[in-house]
Amino acid sequence: MLFNPRTYDPAQFDEPTRRLLRATVDWFETRGKKALIDTYIDRAWYADFLEFAAREGLFAEFLTPSSADPAKRWDTARIAELNEILGFYGLGYWYTWQVTILGLGPVWQSENEAVRARAARLLAEGHVMAFGLSERTHGADIYSTDMILTPDGEGGFTASGSKYYIGNGNVAGLVSVFGRRSDVEGPEGYVFFAADSRHDAYHLVKNVVNAQMYVSEFRLEDYPVRAEDVLHTGQAAFDAALNTVNVGKFNLCTASVGICEHAMYEAVTHARNRVLYGRPVTDFPHVRRELTDAYARLVAMKLFSARAVDYFRTASAEDRRYLLFNPMTKMKVTTEGEKVIDLMWDVIAAKGFEADTYFDKAAKDIRGLPKLEGTVHVNLALILKFMGNYLFAPADYAPVPTRLDAADDAFLFQQGPARGLGAIRFHDWRTAYDRHAQLPNVARFREQADAFCELLLKNAPSKEQQADLDFLLEIGQLFALIVYGQLVLEQAELTGVDADLLDQIFDALVRDFSAHATELHGKASTTEEQAAWALANVRRPVADAERAAKVWARVEALSGAYEMQP
Ligand SMILES: Cc1cc2nc3c(=O)[nH]c(=O)nc-3n(C[C@H](O)[C@H](O)[C@H](O)COP(=O)(O)OP(=O)(O)OC[C@H]3O[C@@H](n4cnc5c(N)ncnc54)[C@H](O)[C@@H]3O)c2cc1C
Repeated sequence: MLFNPRTYDPAQFDEPTRRLLRATVDWFETRGKKALIDTYIDRAWYADFLEFAAREGLFAEFLTPSSADPAKRWDTARIAELNEILGFYGLGYWYTWQVTILGLGPVWQSENEAVRARAARLLAEGHVMAFGLSERTHGADIYSTDMILTPDGEGGFTASGSKYYIGNGNVAGLVSVFGRRSDVEGPEGYVFFAADSRHDAYHLVKNVVNAQMYVSEFRLEDYPVRAEDVLHTGQAAFDAALNTVNVGKFNLCTASVGICEHAMYEAVTHARNRVLYGRPVTDFPHVRRELTDAYARLVAMKLFSARAVDYFRTASAEDRRYLLFNPMTKMKVTTEGEKVIDLMWDVIAAKGFEADTYFDKAAKDIRGLPKLEGTVHVNLALILKFMGNYLFAPADYAPVPTRLDAADDAFLFQQGPARGLGAIRFHDWRTAYDRHAQLPNVARFREQADAFCELLLKNAPSKEQQADLDFLLEIGQLFALIVYGQLVLEQAELTGVDADLLDQIFDALVRDFSAHATELHGKASTTEEQAAWALANVRRPVADAERAAKVWARVEALSGAYEMQP
Protein backbone atom coordinates (compact mmCIF):
# COMPACT_ATOMS: atom_id res chain seq x y z
CA MET A 1 0.00 0.00 0.00
CA LEU A 2 2.93 2.36 0.52
CA PHE A 3 5.00 4.23 -2.05
CA ASN A 4 8.32 2.44 -2.46
CA PRO A 5 10.97 3.92 -4.79
CA ARG A 6 12.44 0.43 -5.29
CA THR A 7 9.34 -0.91 -6.98
CA TYR A 8 7.70 2.34 -8.10
CA ASP A 9 5.87 2.10 -11.41
CA PRO A 10 3.17 4.75 -11.87
CA ALA A 11 1.44 2.66 -14.54
CA GLN A 12 -1.82 4.53 -14.00
CA PHE A 13 -0.47 7.58 -15.86
CA ASP A 14 0.47 8.32 -19.48
CA GLU A 15 4.03 7.84 -20.67
CA PRO A 16 5.30 11.47 -20.29
CA THR A 17 3.91 11.62 -16.75
CA ARG A 18 5.41 8.25 -15.84
CA ARG A 19 8.76 9.31 -17.18
CA LEU A 20 8.81 12.56 -15.16
CA LEU A 21 7.68 10.90 -11.94
CA ARG A 22 10.26 8.18 -12.30
CA ALA A 23 12.95 10.72 -13.21
CA THR A 24 12.18 12.65 -10.02
CA VAL A 25 12.49 9.55 -7.87
CA ASP A 26 15.69 8.55 -9.68
CA TRP A 27 17.16 12.03 -9.18
CA PHE A 28 16.68 11.87 -5.41
CA GLU A 29 17.91 8.29 -5.15
CA THR A 30 20.98 8.94 -7.27
CA ARG A 31 21.83 12.06 -5.29
CA GLY A 32 21.47 9.87 -2.22
CA LYS A 33 20.65 10.05 1.44
CA LYS A 34 23.86 11.72 2.57
CA ALA A 35 23.24 14.74 0.35
CA LEU A 36 19.59 14.82 1.45
CA ILE A 37 20.58 14.87 5.10
CA ASP A 38 23.60 17.17 4.82
CA THR A 39 21.77 19.86 2.84
CA TYR A 40 18.90 19.72 5.32
CA ILE A 41 21.22 20.15 8.29
CA ASP A 42 23.23 22.90 6.55
CA ARG A 43 19.99 24.60 5.49
CA ALA A 44 21.42 24.72 1.98
CA TRP A 45 19.10 26.11 -0.69
CA TYR A 46 18.25 23.22 -3.06
CA ALA A 47 19.44 24.84 -6.28
CA ASP A 48 20.39 21.40 -7.64
CA PHE A 49 16.81 20.18 -7.29
CA LEU A 50 15.49 23.26 -9.06
CA GLU A 51 18.09 22.78 -11.81
CA PHE A 52 16.89 19.21 -12.26
CA ALA A 53 13.24 20.36 -12.35
CA ALA A 54 14.07 23.09 -14.88
CA ARG A 55 16.07 20.70 -17.07
CA GLU A 56 13.25 18.18 -17.15
CA GLY A 57 10.53 20.83 -17.52
CA LEU A 58 8.87 19.23 -14.49
CA PHE A 59 6.97 22.22 -13.09
CA ALA A 60 6.13 23.56 -16.58
CA GLU A 61 4.70 20.19 -17.59
CA PHE A 62 2.64 19.67 -14.43
CA LEU A 63 1.57 23.25 -13.70
CA THR A 64 0.58 24.78 -17.04
CA PRO A 65 -3.14 24.40 -17.71
CA SER A 66 -4.48 23.69 -21.20
CA SER A 67 -5.86 27.22 -21.33
CA ALA A 68 -2.29 28.54 -21.35
CA ASP A 69 -0.79 25.80 -23.55
CA PRO A 70 -3.08 23.26 -25.26
CA ALA A 71 -0.27 20.69 -25.20
CA LYS A 72 -0.20 20.72 -21.39
CA ARG A 73 -2.73 20.10 -18.64
CA TRP A 74 -3.41 20.78 -14.95
CA ASP A 75 -4.13 17.26 -13.74
CA THR A 76 -4.76 16.97 -10.00
CA ALA A 77 -4.19 13.21 -9.98
CA ARG A 78 -0.58 13.47 -11.09
CA ILE A 79 -0.02 16.64 -9.05
CA ALA A 80 -1.10 14.64 -5.97
CA GLU A 81 1.35 11.89 -6.95
CA LEU A 82 4.22 14.36 -7.18
CA ASN A 83 3.27 15.88 -3.80
CA GLU A 84 3.67 12.46 -2.24
CA ILE A 85 7.04 11.86 -3.86
CA LEU A 86 8.38 15.29 -2.89
CA GLY A 87 7.08 14.91 0.68
CA PHE A 88 8.75 11.49 0.80
CA TYR A 89 12.12 13.16 0.21
CA GLY A 90 11.49 16.23 2.35
CA LEU A 91 9.13 19.08 3.12
CA GLY A 92 11.45 21.71 1.60
CA TYR A 93 11.39 20.16 -1.89
CA TRP A 94 7.63 19.97 -1.68
CA TYR A 95 7.34 23.53 -0.39
CA THR A 96 9.13 25.21 -3.30
CA TRP A 97 6.75 23.43 -5.69
CA GLN A 98 3.75 24.15 -3.46
CA VAL A 99 4.28 27.90 -3.34
CA THR A 100 4.85 27.86 -7.10
CA ILE A 101 1.34 26.39 -7.36
CA LEU A 102 0.00 29.12 -5.06
CA GLY A 103 1.77 31.83 -7.03
CA LEU A 104 0.24 30.54 -10.25
CA GLY A 105 -3.29 30.42 -8.78
CA PRO A 106 -4.18 34.11 -9.26
CA VAL A 107 -2.49 34.06 -12.70
CA TRP A 108 -4.36 31.07 -14.12
CA GLN A 109 -7.60 32.55 -12.78
CA SER A 110 -6.89 35.87 -14.46
CA GLU A 111 -8.01 37.04 -17.87
CA ASN A 112 -4.85 39.09 -18.22
CA GLU A 113 -3.31 37.37 -21.25
CA ALA A 114 0.00 39.19 -20.96
CA VAL A 115 0.72 37.89 -17.45
CA ARG A 116 -0.57 34.42 -18.32
CA ALA A 117 1.85 34.28 -21.25
CA ARG A 118 4.65 35.61 -19.02
CA ALA A 119 3.96 32.95 -16.38
CA ALA A 120 3.91 30.15 -18.96
CA ARG A 121 7.21 31.38 -20.39
CA LEU A 122 8.83 31.70 -16.95
CA LEU A 123 7.71 28.18 -16.05
CA ALA A 124 9.11 26.84 -19.31
CA GLU A 125 12.41 28.58 -18.50
CA GLY A 126 12.48 26.75 -15.16
CA HIS A 127 11.49 29.57 -12.79
CA VAL A 128 9.57 29.04 -9.57
CA MET A 129 6.80 31.38 -8.34
CA ALA A 130 5.57 32.87 -5.06
CA PHE A 131 2.28 33.81 -3.43
CA GLY A 132 2.36 37.06 -1.48
CA LEU A 133 -0.78 37.07 0.63
CA SER A 134 0.29 36.93 4.31
CA GLU A 135 1.53 39.88 6.30
CA ARG A 136 3.35 39.92 9.59
CA THR A 137 0.67 41.64 11.65
CA HIS A 138 -2.49 40.22 10.10
CA GLY A 139 -2.21 36.38 10.11
CA ALA A 140 -5.38 34.68 8.93
CA ASP A 141 -7.18 38.05 8.71
CA ILE A 142 -6.56 38.61 5.02
CA TYR A 143 -9.22 41.35 4.86
CA SER A 144 -6.61 43.58 6.48
CA THR A 145 -3.73 44.32 4.18
CA ASP A 146 -1.16 47.08 4.42
CA MET A 147 0.19 46.56 0.90
CA ILE A 148 -1.03 49.85 -0.52
CA LEU A 149 -1.41 50.63 -4.22
CA THR A 150 -1.50 54.31 -5.15
CA PRO A 151 -2.79 55.19 -8.65
CA ASP A 152 -0.04 56.60 -10.88
CA GLY A 153 -2.46 58.50 -13.14
CA GLU A 154 -1.61 56.34 -16.16
CA GLY A 155 -3.78 53.31 -15.41
CA GLY A 156 -1.21 51.72 -13.12
CA PHE A 157 -0.10 52.07 -9.49
CA THR A 158 2.90 52.25 -7.26
CA ALA A 159 2.82 49.59 -4.53
CA SER A 160 4.40 49.90 -1.08
CA GLY A 161 4.23 47.51 1.84
CA SER A 162 5.62 44.30 3.32
CA LYS A 163 4.79 40.64 3.02
CA TYR A 164 5.85 37.98 5.51
CA TYR A 165 6.08 34.16 5.32
CA ILE A 166 6.32 34.16 1.52
CA GLY A 167 7.92 31.01 0.11
CA ASN A 168 10.38 31.33 -2.83
CA GLY A 169 10.42 35.12 -2.26
CA ASN A 170 14.22 34.98 -2.74
CA VAL A 171 14.13 33.76 -6.33
CA ALA A 172 10.58 33.77 -7.72
CA GLY A 173 10.25 34.82 -11.34
CA LEU A 174 6.73 35.95 -10.58
CA VAL A 175 5.23 36.88 -7.22
CA SER A 176 1.42 37.19 -7.05
CA VAL A 177 0.87 39.97 -4.50
CA PHE A 178 -2.36 40.91 -2.73
CA GLY A 179 -3.00 44.53 -1.70
CA ARG A 180 -5.53 47.32 -1.69
CA ARG A 181 -5.92 50.69 -3.38
CA SER A 182 -5.27 53.82 -1.37
CA ASP A 183 -8.21 55.60 -3.00
CA VAL A 184 -11.00 52.99 -2.73
CA GLU A 185 -12.62 51.87 0.53
CA GLY A 186 -13.81 48.31 1.26
CA PRO A 187 -13.67 45.15 -0.89
CA GLU A 188 -13.78 47.11 -4.15
CA GLY A 189 -10.27 48.33 -3.36
CA TYR A 190 -8.56 44.88 -3.41
CA VAL A 191 -5.95 44.21 -6.12
CA PHE A 192 -3.90 41.12 -7.03
CA PHE A 193 -0.87 41.92 -9.16
CA ALA A 194 2.21 40.22 -10.53
CA ALA A 195 5.60 41.40 -9.25
CA ASP A 196 9.11 40.32 -10.15
CA SER A 197 11.48 39.50 -7.29
CA ARG A 198 14.40 40.71 -9.42
CA HIS A 199 13.03 44.27 -9.74
CA ASP A 200 14.98 47.07 -7.98
CA ALA A 201 11.90 48.17 -5.99
CA TYR A 202 11.52 44.62 -4.58
CA HIS A 203 13.58 44.30 -1.41
CA LEU A 204 14.25 40.88 0.05
CA VAL A 205 14.57 41.34 3.82
CA LYS A 206 15.31 37.87 5.20
CA ASN A 207 14.42 34.21 5.48
CA VAL A 208 12.06 34.08 8.47
CA VAL A 209 12.49 30.33 9.07
CA ASN A 210 15.37 28.19 10.21
CA ALA A 211 15.23 25.76 7.31
CA GLN A 212 16.46 24.77 3.89
CA MET A 213 13.42 26.34 2.27
CA TYR A 214 13.20 30.10 1.90
CA VAL A 215 10.16 31.67 3.58
CA SER A 216 10.77 35.32 2.98
CA GLU A 217 9.96 38.70 4.28
CA PHE A 218 10.01 41.14 1.38
CA ARG A 219 9.18 44.80 1.00
CA LEU A 220 7.96 46.75 -2.01
CA GLU A 221 8.94 50.42 -2.12
CA ASP A 222 7.14 52.39 -4.80
CA TYR A 223 7.07 49.26 -6.92
CA PRO A 224 5.62 50.19 -10.35
CA VAL A 225 2.53 48.07 -11.03
CA ARG A 226 1.68 48.60 -14.70
CA ALA A 227 -1.85 48.04 -15.94
CA GLU A 228 -0.60 44.84 -17.60
CA ASP A 229 0.59 43.51 -14.21
CA VAL A 230 -2.88 43.66 -12.62
CA LEU A 231 -4.41 40.19 -12.23
CA HIS A 232 -7.69 40.90 -10.40
CA THR A 233 -9.45 43.85 -8.83
CA GLY A 234 -12.22 44.30 -6.25
CA GLN A 235 -14.13 41.32 -4.85
CA ALA A 236 -12.68 39.15 -7.64
CA ALA A 237 -9.23 39.70 -6.14
CA PHE A 238 -10.44 38.43 -2.78
CA ASP A 239 -12.14 35.43 -4.43
CA ALA A 240 -8.92 34.72 -6.33
CA ALA A 241 -7.06 34.61 -3.01
CA LEU A 242 -9.52 32.12 -1.49
CA ASN A 243 -9.79 30.04 -4.65
CA THR A 244 -6.01 29.86 -4.91
CA VAL A 245 -5.81 28.62 -1.34
CA ASN A 246 -8.48 26.05 -2.28
CA VAL A 247 -6.23 24.71 -5.03
CA GLY A 248 -3.07 24.97 -2.94
CA LYS A 249 -4.24 23.47 0.31
CA PHE A 250 -5.23 20.26 -1.43
CA ASN A 251 -1.51 19.49 -1.74
CA LEU A 252 -0.84 19.21 1.97
CA CYS A 253 -2.52 15.85 2.51
CA THR A 254 -0.41 13.94 0.02
CA ALA A 255 2.76 15.70 1.17
CA SER A 256 1.92 14.51 4.66
CA VAL A 257 1.40 10.96 3.36
CA GLY A 258 4.83 11.00 1.69
CA ILE A 259 6.57 12.19 4.86
CA CYS A 260 4.92 9.45 6.93
CA GLU A 261 5.75 6.74 4.41
CA HIS A 262 9.48 7.43 4.41
CA ALA A 263 9.51 7.71 8.19
CA MET A 264 7.63 4.44 8.49
CA TYR A 265 10.18 2.44 6.51
CA GLU A 266 12.90 3.71 8.84
CA ALA A 267 10.87 3.20 12.00
CA VAL A 268 9.70 -0.34 11.28
CA THR A 269 13.11 -1.44 10.01
CA HIS A 270 14.76 -0.07 13.14
CA ALA A 271 12.23 -1.56 15.57
CA ARG A 272 12.19 -4.97 13.87
CA ASN A 273 15.99 -5.22 14.04
CA ARG A 274 16.46 -3.78 17.51
CA VAL A 275 17.02 -6.63 19.94
CA LEU A 276 16.47 -6.00 23.65
CA TYR A 277 16.58 -8.70 26.34
CA GLY A 278 17.27 -11.18 23.53
CA ARG A 279 14.12 -10.39 21.52
CA PRO A 280 13.14 -7.95 18.78
CA VAL A 281 11.45 -4.84 20.15
CA THR A 282 8.54 -5.64 17.86
CA ASP A 283 7.71 -8.63 20.11
CA PHE A 284 6.33 -6.19 22.71
CA PRO A 285 2.55 -6.07 22.36
CA HIS A 286 2.43 -2.30 22.87
CA VAL A 287 5.02 -1.79 20.13
CA ARG A 288 2.98 -3.94 17.74
CA ARG A 289 -0.15 -2.08 18.68
CA GLU A 290 1.42 1.33 18.09
CA LEU A 291 2.98 0.42 14.76
CA THR A 292 -0.22 -1.30 13.60
CA ASP A 293 -2.19 1.79 14.55
CA ALA A 294 0.29 4.03 12.72
CA TYR A 295 0.05 1.86 9.61
CA ALA A 296 -3.77 1.72 9.64
CA ARG A 297 -3.92 5.49 10.07
CA LEU A 298 -1.46 6.05 7.24
CA VAL A 299 -3.46 3.81 4.90
CA ALA A 300 -6.61 5.76 5.84
CA MET A 301 -4.81 9.02 5.02
CA LYS A 302 -3.96 7.61 1.60
CA LEU A 303 -7.45 6.31 0.93
CA PHE A 304 -9.14 9.58 1.92
CA SER A 305 -6.72 11.70 -0.12
CA ALA A 306 -7.02 9.52 -3.21
CA ARG A 307 -10.81 9.62 -3.14
CA ALA A 308 -10.80 13.38 -2.57
CA VAL A 309 -8.87 13.69 -5.86
CA ASP A 310 -11.89 12.25 -7.67
CA TYR A 311 -14.26 14.86 -6.21
CA PHE A 312 -11.74 17.61 -6.87
CA ARG A 313 -11.46 16.66 -10.53
CA THR A 314 -15.20 16.20 -10.99
CA ALA A 315 -16.03 19.57 -9.43
CA SER A 316 -18.17 22.05 -11.34
CA ALA A 317 -20.41 25.02 -10.56
CA GLU A 318 -23.17 22.44 -9.89
CA ASP A 319 -21.02 20.04 -7.87
CA ARG A 320 -19.02 21.85 -5.19
CA ARG A 321 -18.66 18.92 -2.79
CA TYR A 322 -14.90 19.36 -3.04
CA LEU A 323 -15.25 22.43 -0.83
CA LEU A 324 -15.90 20.12 2.12
CA PHE A 325 -13.49 17.34 1.18
CA ASN A 326 -10.71 19.87 0.62
CA PRO A 327 -10.52 21.35 4.16
CA MET A 328 -10.88 17.74 5.35
CA THR A 329 -7.71 16.79 3.48
CA LYS A 330 -6.09 19.83 4.98
CA MET A 331 -6.94 19.52 8.66
CA LYS A 332 -7.78 15.87 9.10
CA VAL A 333 -5.21 14.10 6.95
CA THR A 334 -2.37 16.34 8.10
CA THR A 335 -3.22 15.98 11.81
CA GLU A 336 -3.44 12.22 11.30
CA GLY A 337 0.08 12.53 9.87
CA GLU A 338 1.21 14.00 13.18
CA LYS A 339 -0.35 11.06 15.04
CA VAL A 340 1.37 8.55 12.76
CA ILE A 341 4.76 10.12 13.45
CA ASP A 342 4.05 10.35 17.20
CA LEU A 343 3.11 6.66 17.39
CA MET A 344 6.27 5.62 15.60
CA TRP A 345 8.46 7.97 17.61
CA ASP A 346 7.23 6.41 20.84
CA VAL A 347 8.58 3.14 19.50
CA ILE A 348 11.91 4.18 18.03
CA ALA A 349 12.61 6.71 20.79
CA ALA A 350 16.28 7.84 20.68
CA LYS A 351 16.69 6.72 17.07
CA GLY A 352 14.23 9.43 16.10
CA PHE A 353 16.71 12.09 17.21
CA GLU A 354 19.64 10.85 15.13
CA ALA A 355 20.93 13.37 12.62
CA ASP A 356 21.46 10.85 9.83
CA THR A 357 17.86 9.66 9.79
CA TYR A 358 15.02 10.98 7.68
CA PHE A 359 12.86 10.45 10.74
CA ASP A 360 14.17 13.34 12.80
CA LYS A 361 13.38 15.69 9.91
CA ALA A 362 9.94 14.15 9.45
CA ALA A 363 9.21 14.60 13.16
CA LYS A 364 9.77 18.34 12.79
CA ASP A 365 8.32 18.88 9.34
CA ILE A 366 5.09 16.95 9.84
CA ARG A 367 4.08 19.63 12.36
CA GLY A 368 4.10 22.32 9.69
CA LEU A 369 1.41 20.94 7.44
CA PRO A 370 -1.59 21.44 9.76
CA LYS A 371 -0.51 25.06 10.21
CA LEU A 372 -0.02 26.08 6.57
CA GLU A 373 -2.82 27.31 4.25
CA GLY A 374 -5.08 28.04 7.19
CA THR A 375 -4.82 26.49 10.63
CA VAL A 376 -6.74 23.46 11.89
CA HIS A 377 -9.22 25.84 13.55
CA VAL A 378 -9.87 27.81 10.40
CA ASN A 379 -10.46 24.65 8.36
CA LEU A 380 -12.60 23.05 11.03
CA ALA A 381 -14.74 26.18 11.23
CA LEU A 382 -15.14 25.89 7.46
CA ILE A 383 -16.11 22.22 7.65
CA LEU A 384 -18.89 23.06 10.11
CA LYS A 385 -20.67 25.14 7.46
CA PHE A 386 -21.46 21.93 5.56
CA MET A 387 -22.67 19.83 8.48
CA GLY A 388 -26.43 20.37 8.22
CA ASN A 389 -26.78 19.53 4.54
CA TYR A 390 -24.23 16.74 4.66
CA LEU A 391 -25.92 14.87 7.48
CA PHE A 392 -29.58 15.65 6.94
CA ALA A 393 -30.29 16.69 3.36
CA PRO A 394 -28.62 14.28 0.93
CA ALA A 395 -29.09 14.88 -2.79
CA ASP A 396 -28.75 12.71 -5.88
CA TYR A 397 -25.53 12.88 -7.85
CA ALA A 398 -24.18 10.68 -10.62
CA PRO A 399 -21.57 8.30 -9.16
CA VAL A 400 -18.06 9.77 -9.23
CA PRO A 401 -15.59 7.29 -10.75
CA THR A 402 -11.85 7.09 -10.08
CA ARG A 403 -10.36 10.06 -11.91
CA LEU A 404 -6.88 9.18 -13.14
CA ASP A 405 -7.66 10.20 -16.73
CA ALA A 406 -5.39 12.68 -18.54
CA ALA A 407 -7.88 15.58 -18.30
CA ASP A 408 -7.25 19.26 -17.64
CA ASP A 409 -8.99 20.36 -14.43
CA ALA A 410 -10.15 23.65 -15.90
CA PHE A 411 -12.84 24.33 -13.30
CA LEU A 412 -10.27 24.89 -10.56
CA PHE A 413 -9.39 28.20 -12.19
CA GLN A 414 -13.03 29.15 -12.77
CA GLN A 415 -14.42 28.45 -9.31
CA GLY A 416 -16.32 31.75 -9.21
CA PRO A 417 -17.53 33.45 -6.05
CA ALA A 418 -16.40 31.75 -2.84
CA ARG A 419 -19.85 32.26 -1.22
CA GLY A 420 -22.83 29.98 -0.64
CA LEU A 421 -21.10 27.10 1.15
CA GLY A 422 -24.07 26.34 3.40
CA ALA A 423 -26.24 25.59 0.36
CA ILE A 424 -23.97 22.87 -1.06
CA ARG A 425 -25.56 19.41 -1.05
CA PHE A 426 -23.90 16.00 -0.77
CA HIS A 427 -24.67 12.44 -1.77
CA ASP A 428 -25.89 10.26 1.10
CA TRP A 429 -23.00 9.41 3.44
CA ARG A 430 -24.94 6.41 4.76
CA THR A 431 -24.58 4.51 1.45
CA ALA A 432 -20.86 3.88 1.89
CA TYR A 433 -21.39 2.80 5.51
CA ASP A 434 -24.31 0.50 4.58
CA ARG A 435 -22.18 -1.27 1.99
CA HIS A 436 -19.61 -2.18 4.66
CA ALA A 437 -22.03 -2.86 7.51
CA GLN A 438 -20.72 -6.41 7.83
CA LEU A 439 -17.40 -5.15 9.21
CA PRO A 440 -17.71 -5.01 13.01
CA ASN A 441 -15.94 -1.69 13.53
CA VAL A 442 -17.63 0.01 10.59
CA ALA A 443 -20.94 -1.05 12.17
CA ARG A 444 -19.83 0.22 15.57
CA PHE A 445 -18.68 3.54 14.14
CA ARG A 446 -21.96 3.83 12.25
CA GLU A 447 -23.80 3.58 15.58
CA GLN A 448 -21.72 6.50 16.82
CA ALA A 449 -22.43 8.47 13.64
CA ASP A 450 -26.17 7.86 13.92
CA ALA A 451 -26.02 8.90 17.57
CA PHE A 452 -24.27 12.10 16.51
CA CYS A 453 -27.18 12.93 14.19
CA GLU A 454 -29.53 12.30 17.09
CA LEU A 455 -27.54 14.66 19.29
CA LEU A 456 -27.88 17.41 16.70
CA LEU A 457 -31.62 16.78 16.37
CA LYS A 458 -32.47 16.45 20.06
CA ASN A 459 -29.80 18.50 21.84
CA ALA A 460 -28.48 20.81 19.16
CA PRO A 461 -25.95 23.49 20.17
CA SER A 462 -27.82 26.44 21.67
CA LYS A 463 -27.44 29.99 20.42
CA GLU A 464 -24.76 30.64 23.06
CA GLN A 465 -22.93 27.43 22.19
CA GLN A 466 -22.99 28.39 18.52
CA ALA A 467 -21.07 31.51 19.45
CA ASP A 468 -18.56 29.43 21.45
CA LEU A 469 -16.00 28.31 18.88
CA ASP A 470 -14.23 26.11 21.42
CA PHE A 471 -17.39 24.05 21.88
CA LEU A 472 -18.24 24.08 18.18
CA LEU A 473 -14.80 22.93 17.08
CA GLU A 474 -15.25 19.77 19.17
CA ILE A 475 -18.56 19.17 17.40
CA GLY A 476 -16.63 19.76 14.18
CA GLN A 477 -14.09 17.07 15.14
CA LEU A 478 -16.86 14.52 15.64
CA PHE A 479 -18.47 15.48 12.35
CA ALA A 480 -15.15 15.35 10.50
CA LEU A 481 -14.71 11.70 11.52
CA ILE A 482 -17.94 10.76 9.73
CA VAL A 483 -16.84 12.47 6.51
CA TYR A 484 -13.40 10.90 6.83
CA GLY A 485 -14.84 7.41 7.21
CA GLN A 486 -17.14 7.87 4.23
CA LEU A 487 -14.38 8.60 1.70
CA VAL A 488 -12.11 5.96 3.20
CA LEU A 489 -14.88 3.40 2.59
CA GLU A 490 -15.56 4.63 -0.93
CA GLN A 491 -11.91 4.39 -1.90
CA ALA A 492 -11.48 1.03 -0.18
CA GLU A 493 -14.31 -0.36 -2.30
CA LEU A 494 -12.94 1.15 -5.53
CA THR A 495 -9.49 -0.30 -4.93
CA GLY A 496 -10.34 -3.55 -3.14
CA VAL A 497 -8.69 -2.91 0.22
CA ASP A 498 -8.92 -6.04 2.32
CA ALA A 499 -11.54 -6.31 5.02
CA ASP A 500 -9.10 -6.82 7.92
CA LEU A 501 -7.21 -3.65 7.17
CA LEU A 502 -10.41 -1.66 6.73
CA ASP A 503 -11.78 -2.96 10.01
CA GLN A 504 -8.49 -2.02 11.70
CA ILE A 505 -8.86 1.53 10.35
CA PHE A 506 -12.33 1.75 11.83
CA ASP A 507 -11.04 0.39 15.12
CA ALA A 508 -9.06 3.66 15.26
CA LEU A 509 -12.02 5.77 14.17
CA VAL A 510 -14.22 4.31 16.93
CA ARG A 511 -11.53 5.22 19.48
CA ASP A 512 -11.13 8.70 17.99
CA PHE A 513 -14.86 9.30 18.16
CA SER A 514 -14.80 8.20 21.80
CA ALA A 515 -11.89 10.53 22.53
CA HIS A 516 -13.66 13.55 21.02
CA ALA A 517 -16.89 12.61 22.84
CA THR A 518 -14.85 12.67 26.06
CA GLU A 519 -13.51 16.12 25.14
CA LEU A 520 -17.03 17.34 24.48
CA HIS A 521 -18.09 15.95 27.84
CA GLY A 522 -15.45 18.08 29.51
CA LYS A 523 -16.31 21.41 27.89
CA ALA A 524 -17.54 24.09 30.27
CA SER A 525 -20.56 24.96 28.14
CA THR A 526 -21.71 21.37 27.47
CA THR A 527 -25.21 20.83 28.91
CA GLU A 528 -26.12 17.88 31.17
CA GLU A 529 -28.01 16.21 28.30
CA GLN A 530 -25.11 16.66 25.91
CA ALA A 531 -22.66 15.37 28.52
CA ALA A 532 -24.80 12.26 29.06
CA TRP A 533 -24.86 11.73 25.30
CA ALA A 534 -21.09 12.06 25.18
CA LEU A 535 -20.52 9.41 27.86
CA ALA A 536 -23.01 7.04 26.24
CA ASN A 537 -21.04 7.28 23.01
CA VAL A 538 -17.65 6.49 24.40
CA ARG A 539 -17.59 3.08 22.77
CA ARG A 540 -15.01 0.32 22.56
CA PRO A 541 -13.86 -0.95 19.18
CA VAL A 542 -14.56 -4.61 18.44
CA ALA A 543 -11.34 -6.46 19.25
CA ASP A 544 -10.15 -9.29 17.02
CA ALA A 545 -6.71 -10.76 17.67
CA GLU A 546 -6.62 -12.62 14.38
CA ARG A 547 -7.39 -9.46 12.41
CA ALA A 548 -4.75 -7.47 14.29
CA ALA A 549 -2.18 -10.21 13.63
CA LYS A 550 -2.89 -10.11 9.90
CA VAL A 551 -2.46 -6.35 9.78
CA TRP A 552 0.69 -6.62 11.88
CA ALA A 553 2.14 -9.05 9.31
CA ARG A 554 1.77 -6.30 6.70
CA VAL A 555 3.60 -3.85 8.96
CA GLU A 556 6.39 -6.29 9.74
CA ALA A 557 6.92 -6.84 6.01
CA LEU A 558 7.97 -3.19 5.71
CA SER A 559 11.14 -3.98 7.66
CA GLY A 560 14.00 -3.74 5.18
CA ALA A 561 11.63 -3.08 2.26
CA TYR A 562 13.23 0.31 1.54
CA GLU A 563 16.31 2.26 2.52
CA MET A 564 17.31 5.33 0.58
CA GLN A 565 20.47 4.95 -1.55
CA PRO A 566 23.37 6.21 0.58
C1 LIG B 1 6.52 27.89 6.85
C2 LIG B 1 5.42 28.82 6.41
C3 LIG B 1 5.26 29.10 5.08
C4 LIG B 1 4.24 29.98 4.65
N1 LIG B 1 4.16 30.30 3.32
C5 LIG B 1 3.28 31.26 2.92
C6 LIG B 1 3.31 31.75 1.58
O1 LIG B 1 4.09 31.31 0.75
N2 LIG B 1 2.45 32.74 1.25
C7 LIG B 1 1.57 33.27 2.15
O2 LIG B 1 0.81 34.17 1.76
N3 LIG B 1 1.53 32.82 3.44
C8 LIG B 1 2.37 31.85 3.85
N4 LIG B 1 2.37 31.42 5.16
C9 LIG B 1 1.42 32.02 6.12
C10 LIG B 1 0.36 31.06 6.60
O3 LIG B 1 -0.60 30.86 5.62
C11 LIG B 1 -0.18 31.63 7.91
O4 LIG B 1 0.73 31.19 8.88
C12 LIG B 1 -1.57 31.16 8.23
O5 LIG B 1 -2.47 31.82 7.38
C13 LIG B 1 -2.00 31.45 9.67
O6 LIG B 1 -1.61 32.70 10.08
P1 LIG B 1 -0.79 32.85 11.47
O7 LIG B 1 0.15 31.70 11.54
O8 LIG B 1 -0.23 34.19 11.53
O9 LIG B 1 -1.90 32.62 12.59
P2 LIG B 1 -2.95 33.72 13.12
O10 LIG B 1 -3.78 34.17 11.96
O11 LIG B 1 -2.24 34.75 13.91
O12 LIG B 1 -3.85 32.86 14.07
C14 LIG B 1 -3.75 32.82 15.50
C15 LIG B 1 -4.74 31.82 16.06
O13 LIG B 1 -6.09 32.24 15.77
C16 LIG B 1 -6.82 31.22 15.13
N5 LIG B 1 -7.73 31.78 14.14
C17 LIG B 1 -7.46 32.81 13.28
N6 LIG B 1 -8.54 33.04 12.48
C18 LIG B 1 -9.50 32.14 12.82
C19 LIG B 1 -10.82 31.88 12.35
N7 LIG B 1 -11.37 32.60 11.36
N8 LIG B 1 -11.51 30.85 12.91
C20 LIG B 1 -10.95 30.12 13.91
N9 LIG B 1 -9.69 30.33 14.40
C21 LIG B 1 -8.97 31.33 13.86
C22 LIG B 1 -5.76 30.36 14.45
O14 LIG B 1 -6.20 29.03 14.29
C23 LIG B 1 -4.59 30.44 15.43
O15 LIG B 1 -4.74 29.47 16.43
C24 LIG B 1 3.36 30.54 5.59
C25 LIG B 1 3.53 30.24 6.94
C26 LIG B 1 4.54 29.40 7.36
C27 LIG B 1 4.70 29.13 8.82
